[in-house]
Amino acid sequence: MLVCSRCGFRYPEEFRLRCDCGGTLFVEKNISGRFGENLRNHFDIRRYLSFLPVSEGHLPVIIPAITPIVELALDGVNVLFKLEYLQPTGSFKDRGTYVTIAKLMKEGLTEVVLDSSGNAALSLAAFSKAAGISVHIFVPALTSSGKLELLKRLGTELHVIDGSRMEVHRAAIEFAERRGITYVSHWLNPYFIEGTKTIAFEVYESAGVPDYVLVPTGSGSLFIGLWKGFSELKKMGEIDRLPHFVAVQASGYESLCKRSEEKSHLAEGIAIPEPPRLEEMRKILIETEGKCMSVGDAEIAEAIRWLWEWGFIVEPTSATVLAALWRLRKDGSVPEGSKVLLPLTGSGLKLTQGI
Ligand SMILES: [Zn+2]
Repeated sequence: MLVCSRCGFRYPEEFRLRCDCGGTLFVEKNISGRFGENLRNHFDIRRYLSFLPVSEGHLPVIIPAITPIVELALDGVNVLFKLEYLQPTGSFKDRGTYVTIAKLMKEGLTEVVLDSSGNAALSLAAFSKAAGISVHIFVPALTSSGKLELLKRLGTELHVIDGSRMEVHRAAIEFAERRGITYVSHWLNPYFIEGTKTIAFEVYESAGVPDYVLVPTGSGSLFIGLWKGFSELKKMGEIDRLPHFVAVQASGYESLCKRSEEKSHLAEGIAIPEPPRLEEMRKILIETEGKCMSVGDAEIAEAIRWLWEWGFIVEPTSATVLAALWRLRKDGSVPEGSKVLLPLTGSGLKLTQGI
């Protein structure tokens, strides 16, 4: 079942991005029994199939992994680094793509359009190949050359748009409407969030409930997914509290806190000034007594150097959460001894220039 976040209208579980009222949609699935009783005997994302809106006969060939958690005592807190950059195409997006492709396969859709700054596009391109789905990708001209090269090799039809991220978004929608091709925006797609919520299940199974979750936040596909995962655990009676959610945004692209004048060039994955799921994210900040904060390039550069020195080969967008944690520790907003989840979202192997 799909439910509108604005008017509450319900739709059958089909591939759909918005309600007729314009509101964004989310998936509602009734789970009977306890969390543990519903776990499958797989050691990858299929462990959580019972909680996902997919059909067993239509599952993608490529399978996202259960990623490791590295625990480090850092700055007086217990940090849980979740190594999402170890997914098949090097980012957490593979989880959302997995559920999305399963849905597209079920509906027999064979051609799709997506706009992306890189990681979501790479993920969709790789998963689509084996499913026989052809992919049009709209990317900003400033996308790193390594990602563009990979997209070409994965056989996508690439549309490079010389404009802002929002202009790329509008160009993709216009193209999809004109050509009558399915647009699969991960900003809007409710199935994408179903995939990212599985990170919360994994964290819970191996490390319990964190006190704080710091998330690189642009479109909110990870922020909302993590919240949904922990919320479903709470709904199942498995946990009795949610972590505090901190939305970490890139300087100059803030949507949940005050917009800075200086623009980040490093955090390309979250340079999204007008995300469509803004209202949902605001509600999460209130519900979890969380907060929004933004970090600039100088802090991101320092954090990524630290991460690389420790052997975490991530891209700059991933480093935003460490920069944020340092500041939150300095101003005392995250108390000593807290358990803090820092998802490391994207691989640095696609991007070595300028680091
Ligand atoms: Zn609606």
